[in-house]
Amino acid sequence: MRLSDAIDWVVDVETPLEEAGGLAAKVVDWLVSEGIILRSTRESMWQRVPLYEPGPCAEQWSVQVIRQVDQCGLEVWCERKVFHTGDNGLQGFRCPKCSAQHEPDALPWSDAVGAWFEAKPDYILTCPACNNGSPITAWHFLELEWGFGNLGFGFNNWSITGRLATAIADVLGHRHRLVHEHI
Ligand SMILES: [Zn+2]
Repeated sequence: MRLSDAIDWVVDVETPLEEAGGLAAKVVDWLVSEGIILRSTRESMWQRVPLYEPGPCAEQWSVQVIRQVDQCGLEVWCERKVFHTGDNGLQGFRCPKCSAQHEPDALPWSDAVGAWFEAKPDYILTCPACNNGSPITAWHFLELEWGFGNLGFGFNNWSITGRLATAIADVLGHRHRLVHEHI
């Protein structure tokens, strides 16, 4: 048994929920065609969605694929979700308008995150340095970015390259964020 697991998430930050399922299928087809995943799946330890198994060409697009553990594969998440960094933690925030950095304790950021998750309109966080409000989705999370979206591709115990994240985003035709979660 492993004491911890890691997930690299490629998060589509633009797609509406009603289009997430169709786009997910398109990306899965592309990943299968490139040999990055297999069509076959295995059960995930924690999620209700199964994991697609790594394919014969997975290593060519990856930093490391930990094939020897059961919890290794791709989960596809088609639901509104705050893709966070888990145990990697949160060291601070950088304002998208003035680039000032703030400690997490100095901002009511969790209210804005909660408002976004509940699809309420007031997910704005105001910067105490420049007094501009920006959507929580535009703020930079330090040291590692979070992602807000309706569609995420989670590579479990599988560290991917930026090239793969960009290639998936090209198939999606949308902006993306790469989120490193540690469990
Ligand atoms: Zn600011």
